[in-house]
Amino acid sequence: MVCNRCGNTENIHKHHIRHKIDGGGDEPENIKCLCRGCHIYHHKRDILLKHIATWTARLEIIDKENTIDLIKERGYHGYWTTEKLLEKLLYKESTTVHFTGEDIEIT
Ligand SMILES: [Zn+2]
Ligand SMILES: [Zn+2]
Repeated sequence: MVCNRCGNTENIHKHHIRHKIDGGGDEPENIKCLCRGCHIYHHKRDILLKHIATWTARLEIIDKENTIDLIKERGYHGYWTTEKLLEKLLYKESTTVHFTGEDIEIT
């Protein structure tokens, strides 16, 4: 087996294009061969993209609460009030990647 990304032939994993946790199966169309390094890189990259999306959404909420009109209404000390609110609402995300058999599982 050969890594689809870099051509390495050692430590090849079967990566699920649509992750099992999202309902992806073992059918050949859903499997991509990746070496260990490329596999970890792929999943860590996905995790970072998810964090970027989450923070972009949070920033949009903060921006909406900090229009000039709303700041004037609240007083000039209240710029980051919303961020404190968000901190309370949001759960801590884990970014641990560990192997289970041939695929990587994210918890
Ligand atoms: Zn590779
Ligand atoms: Zn994978």
